[in-house]
Amino acid sequence: MYAVRYELIKKCRQSGARLGRLHTPHGIIETPIFMPVGTQATVKSMTPEELKEIGSQIILSNTYHLYMRPGYELIKKAGGLHEFMQWDKPILTDSGGFQVFSLGPLRKITEEGVEFRSHLDGSRHTITPEKAVEIQTALGSDIMMAFDECAPYPADRDYVKKSLERTTRWLRRCKDAHKNTENQALFGIVQGGMYKDLREQSAREITAIDLPGYAIGGLSVGEPKDIMYDILGHTVQFLPEDKPRYLMGVGSPDDLLEGVIRGVDMFDCVLPTRIARNGTAMTSQGKVVVRNATYAEDFSSLDPECDCYTCRNYTKAYIRHLIKANEILGARLLTIHNLRFLLKLMENIRTAIHEDRLLDFKEEFLKKYYQK
Ligand SMILES: [Zn+2]
Repeated sequence: MYAVRYELIKKCRQSGARLGRLHTPHGIIETPIFMPVGTQATVKSMTPEELKEIGSQIILSNTYHLYMRPGYELIKKAGGLHEFMQWDKPILTDSGGFQVFSLGPLRKITEEGVEFRSHLDGSRHTITPEKAVEIQTALGSDIMMAFDECAPYPADRDYVKKSLERTTRWLRRCKDAHKNTENQALFGIVQGGMYKDLREQSAREITAIDLPGYAIGGLSVGEPKDIMYDILGHTVQFLPEDKPRYLMGVGSPDDLLEGVIRGVDMFDCVLPTRIARNGTAMTSQGKVVVRNATYAEDFSSLDPECDCYTCRNYTKAYIRHLIKANEILGARLLTIHNLRFLLKLMENIRTAIHEDRLLDFKEEFLKKYYQK
């Protein structure tokens, strides 16, 4: 029996979208879902109570960053990540692969794993598939991700083929190292770059290894959107119907819609929290760069259709003032709003799937979102 089980409730008659439930050791998640990112064991500036209030069902945390600081032994001593950060709902941890590979000249890839130097103090480390599982076991996440290589874009076919085959071998090692299967689920990751035949090869190899869920990695890495949607649609057909599908690192409103339409159930992205700190809001009428002078005397809320704490209480003029003055509250208010906006979008998407009208909903939503 796996720690995480996917229940398919219904499929949309207008698209490939799926309505489902993910049963986890820390509760049930309604899918499709957007997962706020809490890299350093915190969704920047948000308390767990605030996250729950805006409808967060699950959050994501980062193996590489927590391994570097404060260290996974310390978090284990604290009773695991849920206890350490006081979040009692599900947590997904990525494997650290993406961050390690992003280190560029600071890292070296071998069959064994990846050797690298810390971005904090230059110290030497090696992460192997076994180590990634050991760290995530100590963190106690509900869903842990396999250690994989996300090939860069662009990358030549030969490199991508070798890389995805190594990712499959690493997944087998992750599965062998993963003992706590009743409390933690391990998801495999399909790679293959922008090559359709390699995506198929990777999907067939990865799904041949029996696991409670599968992710699609290596997309949204700089390729044009039409290529991303084409590769995504091509890849999903090789994934099993009875397991959840997670598209990694994708979270703009149009990407969420296009992903759900192609049958994806789970998403994560730093975009809503990152642009919040730069003074930008995502609203039902499109992006609002609230730091712009246009909003200096705008005493309306960020988004007339939003029900969040920020929109119920504050004006654009006030939030603009906070951002201009570098006040922490400005970033906090925008973070609350941006996360609520995406979580509410996913709620509306789930309703539209239930009513078999997701394509109609997409058209209405994008018409307003891009009206400017
Ligand atoms: Zn709002």
